[in-house]
Amino acid sequence: MTAVSACSTDGATGDDPARVDVVAAFYPLQFVAERVGGDAVRVTNLAKPGAEPHDLELNPAQVGQVSEAELIVYLAGFQPAVDEAVKQNGGDRAFDVATVQPLLDAAAGGHDHEGEAAGAAEHAEEDEHGGKDPHVWLDPTRLATIGDRLAERLGRADPDRAAEYTARARTLRTELEKLDAEYTAGLKTCQRREIVVSHTAFGYLTERYRLEQIGLSGLTPEDEPAPQRLAEVAEEAREHQATTIFFETLVSPKVAETIAREVGAKTAVLDPIEGLPADGGGDYLSVMRDNLTILRTALSCS
Ligand SMILES: [Zn+2]
Ligand SMILES: [Zn+2]
Repeated sequence: MTAVSACSTDGATGDDPARVDVVAAFYPLQFVAERVGGDAVRVTNLAKPGAEPHDLELNPAQVGQVSEAELIVYLAGFQPAVDEAVKQNGGDRAFDVATVQPLLDAAAGGHDHEGEAAGAAEHAEEDEHGGKDPHVWLDPTRLATIGDRLAERLGRADPDRAAEYTARARTLRTELEKLDAEYTAGLKTCQRREIVVSHTAFGYLTERYRLEQIGLSGLTPEDEPAPQRLAEVAEEAREHQATTIFFETLVSPKVAETIAREVGAKTAVLDPIEGLPADGGGDYLSVMRDNLTILRTALSCS
């Protein structure tokens, strides 16, 4: 007798009327939405595991998910296809995490020698991204603040459970602050502070923990950086006696391997956590801790 009403949908609340339907644009936003939302939300990640999210393209079904979601969590300036879908169909359901705190300039946490001109690649990237670095999630304290604001936003969408969202965001903040303290202590005393990376995704991390990044490519990954850039990076790696050239899980290690061979260094994964690997191991916190272990080894931290 009640079967009919159980099956009726008015379309406004998605598949599961008891939960808030949240669409997250890529993994770290999915992580925060799941942690803050708990079992009160159903989170769909637009980026597939194992795929690099910068150049994400949306299929019609995903555009539909964006139109139907009760909340869209995204980062304006990171994924052009998502920006476009939000502009077309997002209405007032979009939560742009880039608005939570001012973003760093594209060159922040970077590396150049005084008096030297910045590389041409860097300038191209600044044009592309309006001069701002989108990789905010690599500073755990910023991710905690994103969690707090998301809790407020969810609380407005779902006032009955506002206190739950606030409490979960507080728990997440505690975990992220613990991670931050581990990074601060773990990277306090190191023989080197320069990291050679595939693309300059680590500006928030290097800024917070007083490291410097030297990127093979700029703010978006490239398969084949210009030969001149490779030569410059090899030179930097030698000059700073880098023992390790980092590559990423979702981008080919080929270029990093070439440089490493040239300068006699090893390669290792430093994960910018733009997505989880296709085999899905770990989460934001465990990958950040893996990154810290790898950094401490590569930089000879005591
Ligand atoms: Zn990136
Ligand atoms: Zn240098």
